[in-house]
Amino acid sequence: MNSLVATTRNFRNAVRLLGLDSKLEKSLLIPFREIKVECTIPKDDGTLVSYVGYRIQHDNARGPMKGGIRYHPEVDPDEVNALAQLMTWKTAVANIPYGGAKGGIGCSPRDLSLSELERLTRVFTQKIHDLIGIHTDVPAPDMGTNSQTMAWILDEYSKFHGHSPAVVTGKPIDLGGSLGRDAATGRGVVFATEALLAEYGQSISELTFVIQGFGNVGSWAAQLIHERGGKVIAVSDITGATRNLNGLDIPALLKHKVENGSLHDFKGGDAMNLDELLVHECDVLIPCALGGVLSRENAADVRAKYIIEAANHPTDPDADEILSKKGVVILPDIYANAGGVTVSYFEWVQNIQGFMWEEEKVNQELQRYMRKAFTNIKAMCKSHDCNLRMGAFTLGVNRVARATLLRGWEA
Ligand code: NAD
Repeated sequence: MNSLVATTRNFRNAVRLLGLDSKLEKSLLIPFREIKVECTIPKDDGTLVSYVGYRIQHDNARGPMKGGIRYHPEVDPDEVNALAQLMTWKTAVANIPYGGAKGGIGCSPRDLSLSELERLTRVFTQKIHDLIGIHTDVPAPDMGTNSQTMAWILDEYSKFHGHSPAVVTGKPIDLGGSLGRDAATGRGVVFATEALLAEYGQSISELTFVIQGFGNVGSWAAQLIHERGGKVIAVSDITGATRNLNGLDIPALLKHKVENGSLHDFKGGDAMNLDELLVHECDVLIPCALGGVLSRENAADVRAKYIIEAANHPTDPDADEILSKKGVVILPDIYANAGGVTVSYFEWVQNIQGFMWEEEKVNQELQRYMRKAFTNIKAMCKSHDCNLRMGAFTLGVNRVARATLLRGWEA
């Protein structure tokens, strides 16, 4: 199922549980603004090439819109739309004063040189600089973009508007980035997992974990679980998967990956099939790679007791239904991976304050936000008699609905 259809379905179910009227439903669903721009740049060999860039600003009732910019050949307006909408609910679940947005350029960043990427980022920024801003819309990195991309956006934007570090988050530390931002999503995933397990009287140290994806989110989550005594028994990335039922030595696996660029030939584990990993026996499965990996085809075979959705949209609605019937507890993406945007918020706050926090403070505040959000989700589950996904959706949608109503409808 297309991610926009799935997200909208969850939104409509939440609207029904909350008893919101149809006028409000429509207003919450339709994006605030959709931007589509043509970006033409000279390649290094002098030939011209054109790309299409998007920025979908979904909702700003609770504050400036917030969301990543991805560079990927399959950037598609429907998916950007779904992800922008998800950001609106996610920032509301985390209770940070933001709305939601998402953007991207349909390009293959691997096929572009560094200077071509810089030119493309600067042209895109020139086209949208009037429509983003510290109190309007604050981009961040996403797939195919990184802190360097944010540095170029900051620089280009500042040419028009004066020095403005708070216009983007996920920046290099030297340009006003926050300590702890790199690990934030993975750390948030671990705080969220701890909050969930505590409900069942369990802790990370007594359980086994399988992690799909060993990039930013997956590798930090694996490291922090390992530090807490959890047994990470299988890990995969695009290059392959490795398994050790006694628990992988995660620091050694990270070292192997840095040195070899892949998980292949890791001596501390046995190679395994990529698809097998998702249905491997374990207590906790953490998808940290792509969307839609749990589907009607494999959901019935999943043997985990808990699924922590660190990736965006890893479980399609068919799989959601099958897994719920099997009694698998799913911690939804709009809560589980909110640690990244929460520390992005701390970065923006530090830039506006002109004051840098210690990493310890960043991590403590992140834990406080993640715990509070979990308590709030559980309260919604109780009052609406629903699962955690609907608990998170009703929490987020209700907060945005309340802000919208308080602001009023008068033109
Ligand atoms: P990343 O690019 O750093 O890592 C992605 C990982 O997935 C890589 O290890 C890659 O090899 C692996 N992968 C790709 N295809 C795979 C496959 N078929 N099987 C197994 N592994 C595969 O990305 P990331 O920043 O870690 O993001 C991971 C997920 O988390 C994405 O869904 C992203 O949208 C979501 N997310 C990330 C952040 C963040 O702050 N980075 C915040 C919120 C959500």
